[in-house]
Amino acid sequence: MRPIYLDCHATTPMDKRVLEAMMPFFTDYFGNASSVAHVYGWEAEAGIKQAREIIASAINAKESEIVFTSGATEADNLAIKGVAEAYFDRGKHIITVATEHKAVIEPCEYLMDLGFEVSFLPVNQDGLLDLDLLQNTMREDTILVSVMAANNEIGVLQPLAEIGKICHDRGVIFHTDGAQAIGKIPIDVQSMNIDLMSLTAHKIYGPKGIGALYIRRRNPRVKIAPQIQGGGQENKIRSGTLCTPNIVGFGKAVEVAIALMEAENLKQKQLRDYLWQEISQLEGVILNGDLEKRLPNNLNISVKNVDGSALLLALQPTVAVSSGSACTSESTKPSHVLTALGHSKSLAQASLRFGIGRFNTEEEIKKVAHATLDAVTALRKSGR
Ligand SMILES: *Cc1c(COP(=O)(O)O)cnc(C)c1O
Repeated sequence: MRPIYLDCHATTPMDKRVLEAMMPFFTDYFGNASSVAHVYGWEAEAGIKQAREIIASAINAKESEIVFTSGATEADNLAIKGVAEAYFDRGKHIITVATEHKAVIEPCEYLMDLGFEVSFLPVNQDGLLDLDLLQNTMREDTILVSVMAANNEIGVLQPLAEIGKICHDRGVIFHTDGAQAIGKIPIDVQSMNIDLMSLTAHKIYGPKGIGALYIRRRNPRVKIAPQIQGGGQENKIRSGTLCTPNIVGFGKAVEVAIALMEAENLKQKQLRDYLWQEISQLEGVILNGDLEKRLPNNLNISVKNVDGSALLLALQPTVAVSSGSACTSESTKPSHVLTALGHSKSLAQASLRFGIGRFNTEEEIKKVAHATLDAVTALRKSGR
């Protein structure tokens, strides 16, 4: 038997409803959406239009403001490099946060090599951004602020509306990585003053390899320099033949997630709270990230006095979770998110991220709770 899957911040299984919606677009409606001269093209375009409408309305945007990409990584790159290239004559200062996804941090570091200045703001112990610090870091030449909506490791929810207001009061563009947020928390790009938002399908039971960037077109109209040139698809902002089945699946995934959001959040929060209640019986267990301002399906803990890799190994037969380290080709590095919370390297590595999903059951969570209690107790007894 395979272990229980509790790694839903990494990816999710595809929902059968999503697969069903996609299927006809592989075979029957296989046309190129750019083929305007015949019905094959129109059919594909109709599927894409419907998905675009669903995704736009889910965040209170317009269809014309959604640009499809290969995922949130590409959307982050397009947003950050696209703004830098379009606005460098206005300024070369960018503000982001130490706990962002690598898909935001790496493009920012790349821009530093090109002469941009980037402020990586620290976070409070609860993982949240200090808004006074944000305000004090803003300068005349700040062109972009990028703060993620929901953190993929510790699940904390940054105060988007407050950040959006601060940015708009100063005429600074606000980008948010919403990969973990869409379909999980209500997002309104108007009331939250979001100018750019990265999205992806595979964290909400949709297919991998498809995402989008929301680009505000009014109040203000945000300029983005394309990073991929070619056939001129997506208003010339992102060339390349659109992957119709993936886009249709993305739309379906958003539709289902929005419809189920309230009920799903309630159920997953109950399971998460139960898991934490059980695990917190152990001594020396730290909850990472604010408990309230947090995704309802996320639990991230650090366990004192155990070896991180031994803990992961002990749990592997029972549960598929992520640890507090990112395996690179050379070595295992502690998570930059957990070290930003002030954890030592070894404590960061002795961390577990549980991501509860749509298809997990109470019985599974009980098993995982017991396995975690047993594993930590046993390791501590054996002095590891
Ligand atoms: C998963 C994730 C990404 C990367 O998305 P892909 O679609 O896999 O490229 C970026 N940011 C966050 C916060 C994520 O969780």
